[in-house]
Amino acid sequence: KAPVITVDGPGGSGKGTITQMLARRLGWHLLDSGALYRLTALAATRQGVALDNEAGLVLVASGLDVSFEPTPPGEPARVILAGEDVTAEIRTETCGENASKVAVLQAVRDALLQRQRDFRVLPGLVADGRDMGTVVFPDAPVKIFLTASAEERAQRRYNQLKDAGVNVNIAALLDEIRVRDERDINRSAAPLKPADDAQVIDSTGLSIEEVLGRCMAAAGQ
Ligand code: C5P
Repeated sequence: KAPVITVDGPGGSGKGTITQMLARRLGWHLLDSGALYRLTALAATRQGVALDNEAGLVLVASGLDVSFEPTPPGEPARVILAGEDVTAEIRTETCGENASKVAVLQAVRDALLQRQRDFRVLPGLVADGRDMGTVVFPDAPVKIFLTASAEERAQRRYNQLKDAGVNVNIAALLDEIRVRDERDINRSAAPLKPADDAQVIDSTGLSIEEVLGRCMAAAGQ
């Protein structure tokens, strides 16, 4: 079996950036599992399937026609849904919020399970998500749980959006982060928590390079 490093944690903990860097350094594949939940929410909205229609959402999730296309170093993969580039669209706050609504449904999670496991091919996989170490790859030899305070995560998101020319209110962002955390932690289907054998890394106050160094060390590299 190909090796896997799982990186779980709340939104805005730096997982996206860190897993991209880790995958690139190791020359391994990358699974952005959050994108699959975001795509399910987006495809459902487009097809007129309500975000609490479990049976409808299962059909959407199992029928997702998605491909992840490589991009130059440092850029997230391009996400193609049924031939259309939705890379930017799935990154909006609304899509993240909708993703966390469909993600509470166990049947939707089940529908996405095998698709995620299929990413595990040689030379190895870096898996980014909420339940990579607890549910999807419970036998992963290296499990990392990356956290940061809600305030720091709101500040990072604010900076990202500002750099992208989007003006937002930081208090509103902090509220959104808290609501999403609450939903991810308290749901009964695969609640967000570190696996028993995960190494917890708190990135509050650390630079990206420092966090990457700790993750590489955790991975024995
Ligand atoms: O990580 P990202 O913000 O893209 O994830 C969007 C939402 O999808 C999360 O808030 C969470 O509810 C859900 N998710 C999940 N399990 C994963 C990845 C994401 O439930 N493995």
